[in-house]
Amino acid sequence: MTTFKQWGITPALLDILDKQGIVKPTPVQEAAIPALLSGEDVIAQAQTGTGKTLAFLLPIIEKIRVDRSDAQALIITPTRELAIQITAEARKLTNAKEGLSILAAYGGQDVERQLRKLKSGTQLVIGTPGRLLDHLRRGSLKLGSIKMLVLDEADQMLHMGFLAEVESIIRMIPRSRQTMLFSATMPDNVKRLAKTYMDQPKDIRITETSR
Ligand code: ADP
Ligand code: MG
Repeated sequence: MTTFKQWGITPALLDILDKQGIVKPTPVQEAAIPALLSGEDVIAQAQTGTGKTLAFLLPIIEKIRVDRSDAQALIITPTRELAIQITAEARKLTNAKEGLSILAAYGGQDVERQLRKLKSGTQLVIGTPGRLLDHLRRGSLKLGSIKMLVLDEADQMLHMGFLAEVESIIRMIPRSRQTMLFSATMPDNVKRLAKTYMDQPKDIRITETSR
């Protein structure tokens, strides 16, 4: 049986997963996590509810550095609800990473609070395209140190008309980054986005419905 253990993930992180009853990786996690840990770009297609969030959060939290305070990882997700969910899932893992600060940047939330947090330094930023662009325009968020970028639920994001926003955000991130794209379906516009902004991505397609 495949377990999270075999990938050399920090024991404290494994403990937290264990306590949530998460011991066996789902198929998309099994395919994506080792590639992401080794620094590859990954494009992964798997149905809703198959654990895509943890597939990118685990490698990010494993690799992110807490001895510096600049934004190193950015997760772009289409809706406020998804941003809240991802942030909650990420926060559960932060006990294993003392000093890790997470910023959730979505609309309808107190901007002043977000600005204060950005000023004090935050390594992981999770947000929706509109609010992220807001911070970028204000200069409160800088993407020059981003090393890991996630395009979450990419099909939904483009379906909602966020292509231009997403592209302008991606273009502000150094090309040396690692790019991860997760989606339930792979329509042509998502494939095109991947082709334009990803570097020889490992292509993962999970067809089974089990998890
Ligand atoms: P997706 O983004 O693929 O739609 P999520 O990442 O939101 O799906 O995961 C769906 C649910 O599965 C979440 O409640 C999550 O906690 C749970 N989950 C994720 N990975 C595992 C796992 N390896 N074992 C058990 N449950 C898991
Ligand atoms: Mg998801």
